[in-house]
Amino acid sequence: MTDRDIAQQGAGTTLDFDPAKLRAKYREERAKRLRGDGAQQYSKLEGDFAGLKADPYVEPGFTREPIADTVDAVIIGGGFGGILTGAQLRRNGVEKIRIIERGGDIGGTWYWNRYPGAACDVESYIYLPLLEEIGGLPPRKYATAPEIWEHTKKIAHRFDLYELALFQTSVTEAVWDSESETYTVRTDRGDEIRTRYLITATGSLSEPKLPGIAGIDKFEGHMIHTSRWDYDYTGGDQGGSLSKLADKRVAIIGTGATAVQVVPHLAESSKHLTVFQRTPSSIHVRADRPTDEEWFRNLPEGWQRARMENFTKAFSGVDVDVDLVNDSWTQSYFDAARAAAEGDVAPHQLANYMKMEDARARIDQVVERPETAEMLKPWYNFFCKRPCFHDGYLDVFNRENTTLVDTDGRGVESIDETGLWFGGVHYEVDCIVFATGFEVGTSSGSRTGFVLHGRDGVTLGEHWENGFRSLHGLAVHNFPNYFIINSLSQAGLTANFAHMLSVEAEQVGYIIGAAIEGSVKTVEVTADAEEAWVQEIISVATDNEIGAQNTAFQEECTPGYYNNEGQPFLRAIQNGPYGLGAVAYIQVLDDWREAGTLEGLSLTPAPVAVEAR
Ligand code: NDP
Repeated sequence: MTDRDIAQQGAGTTLDFDPAKLRAKYREERAKRLRGDGAQQYSKLEGDFAGLKADPYVEPGFTREPIADTVDAVIIGGGFGGILTGAQLRRNGVEKIRIIERGGDIGGTWYWNRYPGAACDVESYIYLPLLEEIGGLPPRKYATAPEIWEHTKKIAHRFDLYELALFQTSVTEAVWDSESETYTVRTDRGDEIRTRYLITATGSLSEPKLPGIAGIDKFEGHMIHTSRWDYDYTGGDQGGSLSKLADKRVAIIGTGATAVQVVPHLAESSKHLTVFQRTPSSIHVRADRPTDEEWFRNLPEGWQRARMENFTKAFSGVDVDVDLVNDSWTQSYFDAARAAAEGDVAPHQLANYMKMEDARARIDQVVERPETAEMLKPWYNFFCKRPCFHDGYLDVFNRENTTLVDTDGRGVESIDETGLWFGGVHYEVDCIVFATGFEVGTSSGSRTGFVLHGRDGVTLGEHWENGFRSLHGLAVHNFPNYFIINSLSQAGLTANFAHMLSVEAEQVGYIIGAAIEGSVKTVEVTADAEEAWVQEIISVATDNEIGAQNTAFQEECTPGYYNNEGQPFLRAIQNGPYGLGAVAYIQVLDDWREAGTLEGLSLTPAPVAVEAR
């Protein structure tokens, strides 16, 4: 059903659902899922599970001589955040740029996540950053993981980021030295690299996690975390055809965005697939299609940024004249909801109910067994959990070789040597696939794996003891010449991470460019500016009407990593994104640059400012 159909249906007619009943149902389903241990329910891939986190894509036994040298900038992380920042630094006159990356190549998310079916459900034309400059024609509206990975490599080549890059290398420590005004970065390969600028772009969904299910360590079959796919075991490739699973009984735990993409391939290739579901995802239409080459080749200069902005506006509920991307992310039911509004239900809530009713109706249309269809229905607001966009996932549950085990919000009860338990039933399997996601909201050290020392030896962990502190989510008091590219904490959040990472990279490039141009040696956020931004983050989330609405929305949501597993607290607000949304955040940065005063930054001028170059 299109927006127009909904609008026509909504205007002047009565709703075919009862908002009060839906609200009660959402609350009931949320209550089922609340648990005391919140985010603590998960564990790291360590100890007995360390093997699940090892890099399966490189030859074992790589060695090299340690490096000791000085560069202008070290960027930790070679994903989109790292390479986009590298590109901006290059443009702003930084010469020696060294990316340090634990994987075997550039790519970040798209290096690690090679599970069959991996793709991006944000449109390729806006998800592949610098597409106008780098060139290339995305073959379809949505890009596959290999296509995206190729694009990241092209960016790195274009901006000469491979030259000094260190792969299969993890940073263990970075220490600010006030005398030389540089950081010393140490790694697990014995490197000791001095750098004037340090940037962490370590990703927001990069540290895989496991569910804390009793007996998980007892299982004697094969285990895979989706972020480290084991093709030796499954056979096949990212396109599927996992031939070695033909005689295997496979279980998958998790039904989030990753599982939705991998499940159709597992179902097609395995002897039998059992999907263990705790909370169903909402599965919306993706409608992938080939690119209209003529249209693409005739796009005017600057089209990509305009399209990215248009998407982020539509996604954020800001009026746009034309919805350029026009997919299930951006289509809003708001006008229809306004027309149909009655009683005390706000139009935005009504629009949300409509969107989810639509998703639930789709399940009834696709899934043949009514009891299975019921189990697959999500009972929460759109965007309480990461929505999914797929045109093959629901059909899987019509297959004879696939079983859905709905755990009614409780999760798998236990695991033993041969399989999994739920509701008194034992499911014997050969392999368990964990599609259980990544750490979110844990300490920075936990996710990056290294300690950063700033002025007077203070660590980032100590500085953030009472919550994340920054100016614009990008720079931190006591940590001169240090920048964070993250896109989640205290910055703008949009579904198109590539857009926000581009914005952040440009801002950092601008600051470092200004420092170089002004022969400035150190740039540091003042304590006052940092405190002001922290207060802004908290106050827009709690006092401002829009922000408070967002906060109240999260509090009503079913648990997940978007709302700190249903335990919202002031710290989560402080650590979260800018409450007025991505469009407002971008405006803050634009205004800040427009003012041209580098407000809130303390600059230390020195005559030998560019000696390190
Ligand atoms: P998620 O964190 O989204 O999902 C984890 C899944 O594991 C959830 O379904 C969760 O259930 C389930 N789970 C956890 N513990 C248990 C348990 N004990 N028993 C049963 N189930 C359990 O991880 P994903 O890897 O799916 O996705 C992470 C993020 O990566 C996404 O949110 C998205 O941002 C990004 N992504 C983007 C894609 C794209 O196309 N752009 C594609 C894939 C991922 P519950 O919901 O109840 O917690």
